[in-house]
Amino acid sequence: MERPRLGLIGSLLRVQFPQSRGAGRPGQHPGTIDYRLDRRRLLRAVRAGEIDLEEVCDAQIELLRVGKDYSKAAPTACPVCEARTLRHVRFVFGPRLPKEGRAINSTKELERLAEKTGEFRCFLVEVCMSCRWNHLLTAAPLRSRKSA
Ligand SMILES: [Zn+2]
Repeated sequence: MERPRLGLIGSLLRVQFPQSRGAGRPGQHPGTIDYRLDRRRLLRAVRAGEIDLEEVCDAQIELLRVGKDYSKAAPTACPVCEARTLRHVRFVFGPRLPKEGRAINSTKELERLAEKTGEFRCFLVEVCMSCRWNHLLTAAPLRSRKSA
């Protein structure tokens, strides 16, 4: 499977893209790539002192801005600083969208995009507003409910 083109996300998040782990987990759309395993591995390395905090708590200003204005509160605390300031941001990439993707925080807008023609991909990113931890959680094709 080819690596997703990330545009701004790639520069915002210093994410390393591992090989795809196949068809994703049960219950998810086919084509969904789950990065939680990498997240766990990274967090373990941080806790073991193998990776410096500055290397993973490096959210850029733009990502923090989007996290403040176009996101939803994450259901969990930050895995690094344990503050309740973790946000979930969705970036959508696809035809007629800006090269750097569009941050979307409304379900309605996601559904509107899913109904348009062309291939859209949605990247779910978590960012902590306190310590600047950030990580990609999932990348998934955006699908209309009607076509499902
Ligand atoms: Zn944090």
